[in-house]
Amino acid sequence: MAILPAKVNYYEYIMSDAWRRKRKAYWASNLRKDCFVCGCKRQAGFHLHHLTYERLGNERLEDLVPVCEPCHVMIHNNEKKHPNMSLREVTHFTQKNYLKEKELEAKQAAITQHIIDNPYVARGLDPKLFGTPRKKRKIQRRHAESQSRKTKT
Ligand SMILES: [Zn+2]
Ligand SMILES: [Zn+2]
Repeated sequence: MAILPAKVNYYEYIMSDAWRRKRKAYWASNLRKDCFVCGCKRQAGFHLHHLTYERLGNERLEDLVPVCEPCHVMIHNNEKKHPNMSLREVTHFTQKNYLKEKELEAKQAAITQHIIDNPYVARGLDPKLFGTPRKKRKIQRRHAESQSRKTKT
């Protein structure tokens, strides 16, 4: 955990009326209300996460960001994994990482959809040669027709 101002006990403060008022002030402000990391809408179990403990007990509303519970856990897990980063850095890092992963997932989903839409491409076949199954049947039918015409003459 990041270094706290010596005079404030974090656990006492978190249970205090002062912190309850601070939270109220945050939610009444026009600062963002969705999760700082994943952007999900405010819901039960939302936390206010400190970007810094520098001013703990006397923090600015800007020192706080709303986070959903899983994202909050993620931030503090990253904090443990990256002891050289400040809490603010870890928070931004967690957000960036999340967005990067989402982007990757979206790309993967797009590739999967492309394979579903283009089964011939997925099998390494040129769609121009094979086309859709319907087109293929049409080509086969025409071919059969021309063959039968040939045998008649
Ligand atoms: Zn979240
Ligand atoms: Zn936190």
